[in-house]
Amino acid sequence: MMTRPLIGVLALQGDVREHLAALDDSGADAVGVRRPEELDKVDGIVIPGGESTTMSRLLQVFELLDPLRERLRGGLPAYGSCAGMILLASEVLDTRPDAEHLGAIDMTVRRNAFGRQVDSFESDLEFEGIIGDPIRAVFIRAPWVERVGPGVEVLAQVPAAAGEAAGRIVAVRQGSVIATSFHPEVTGDRRVHEMFVDLVRG
Ligand code: GLN
Repeated sequence: MMTRPLIGVLALQGDVREHLAALDDSGADAVGVRRPEELDKVDGIVIPGGESTTMSRLLQVFELLDPLRERLRGGLPAYGSCAGMILLASEVLDTRPDAEHLGAIDMTVRRNAFGRQVDSFESDLEFEGIIGDPIRAVFIRAPWVERVGPGVEVLAQVPAAAGEAAGRIVAVRQGSVIATSFHPEVTGDRRVHEMFVDLVRG
């Protein structure tokens, strides 16, 4: 069994450092990934938040799009937060027509779904498979999930107290790929990253 798996953080754009720190705290060796050779070595990959259309373009510029698709098809465990969730989706609404995504989770995601009035907000969530206190979820121009395929497990939804967005799906898992609309890397609570590191070990 791998004790400290090697987990890459896609380091083209976005909140890379926060994920590296969270993974390190969660029992993984964490490295930034910018080149196909670096991608070859990792046991799992995190796709951070940022701007999904920009990351899509940079994936092509850095010649990582096809190698990443290939590794995901081969079963590489992955975790995407926010823009990373968008990139992992099989279908994306309200994006640019030329934006690429990776199709690692059978789901339809809407970008910037929570609307202009509530660009950023926080909420406490029940998260399937995580025991103890609820998870503090920080949403920043976040997507939500509008459709999940039959193989996709819903891990978290916006709670009733959040008003109009109540019930929206904000965390999912398909096999060894997970995605959250929100940013656990900014809160200091490592339980989502620990869940991912466990998935990679498994
Ligand atoms: N709105 C961004 C996008 O569409 C995602 C925001 C984020 O990652 N915090 O890619």
